[in-house]
Amino acid sequence: MKNVGINGYGTIGKRVADAVACQDDMQIVGVTKRTPDFEAKMAVEKGFPLYISAPEREGLFEEADIKLAGTIDDLYDKLDVMVDCTPGGIGAKNKEIYSEKGVKGIFQGGEKHEQIGKSFNSFTNYKDNLGADYVRVVSCNTTGLCRTLQPIDDLCGIKKVRAVMVRRGSDPGQIKAGPINAIVPNPPTVPSHHGPDVQTVMYDLDIVTMALLVPTTIMHQHNLMVELETPPSLDDVIETLETTPRVKLVEANKGLNSTAEIMEFARDLGRPRGDLNEIAVWKESLNIKDGELFYMQAIHQESDVVPENIDCIRALLEMEDDPTKSIEKTNKNMGIN
Ligand code: NAD
Repeated sequence: MKNVGINGYGTIGKRVADAVACQDDMQIVGVTKRTPDFEAKMAVEKGFPLYISAPEREGLFEEADIKLAGTIDDLYDKLDVMVDCTPGGIGAKNKEIYSEKGVKGIFQGGEKHEQIGKSFNSFTNYKDNLGADYVRVVSCNTTGLCRTLQPIDDLCGIKKVRAVMVRRGSDPGQIKAGPINAIVPNPPTVPSHHGPDVQTVMYDLDIVTMALLVPTTIMHQHNLMVELETPPSLDDVIETLETTPRVKLVEANKGLNSTAEIMEFARDLGRPRGDLNEIAVWKESLNIKDGELFYMQAIHQESDVVPENIDCIRALLEMEDDPTKSIEKTNKNMGIN
């Protein structure tokens, strides 16, 4: 049983904590918070030992009657790995601390690949990260692109990818982000950073991306144009995606016309927090024309990277050499496909 800590118990951190807790080969030995808010209270109620990452704020937790197990310094000795889920940019600074403490670290997509040194996706480069000390799980958008591009590349080879990505303006719990009434080219320059980010885990892929922000809080939506080496039949592509783990083909003609309806579907599936860890691909959007594959997909930004974090723990701690077995185990324990 491996001991896992979560530094930063927010949108991603609390989900990774729950996903660790439902595996049978790893356990949560501590999560950290800086603020004694409802998330801190619920972490304690779930039985996760709560450590403070800003010890000077300990009095605030006492006032809020939230019991601490100690400061973050007390947690390092108990860990096999720290999963850093702090806001983008902080993880790279924390890496220095983990290194001093002799603790392995997993970081999130808000960190720069160059600062962490290695990047990870379960389907593209699991084995390259076996036994590594510091690895970054690529962002929600990059994870979404890799989940569908890797099986297509395996099926028929990819010459090049061009993708337009429509991104949610903020997460549902964020009240200060936007836009509220605008479509924002983000960045207004081409390419966006997403293509190079995919290349940190699919090293030789020719990919160029453009991105926009829109006023929605739930799900990103991607539009892909993929030139194929040896174009297969459309049925072969459909069968491949239907049998790819963590990908779900959805049909507009069954009422799943939009990101809103897909999230409603996830709630109906009874998923924790109404999350959809899988990438939803609209079946009707799949088409091959002149050797080029077209499709549209939707990504639940708060949850798609969560199973990848679990596989990344197994790779770093060399608990499982075979990505397929880790993916199967993670999925079974999380109740996802
Ligand atoms: P968040 O703001 O929801 O949570 C961050 C948590 O870290 C909060 O609990 C905050 O109090 C805590 N924190 C802040 N500063 C800290 C510090 N110095 N030390 C310890 N804890 C600190 O952020 P998030 O959305 O969960 O994002 C975390 C990481 O995951 C980022 O790198 C982000 O880019 C990445 N990510 C986010 C999403 C998403 O859609 N939210 C998707 C994929 C990846």
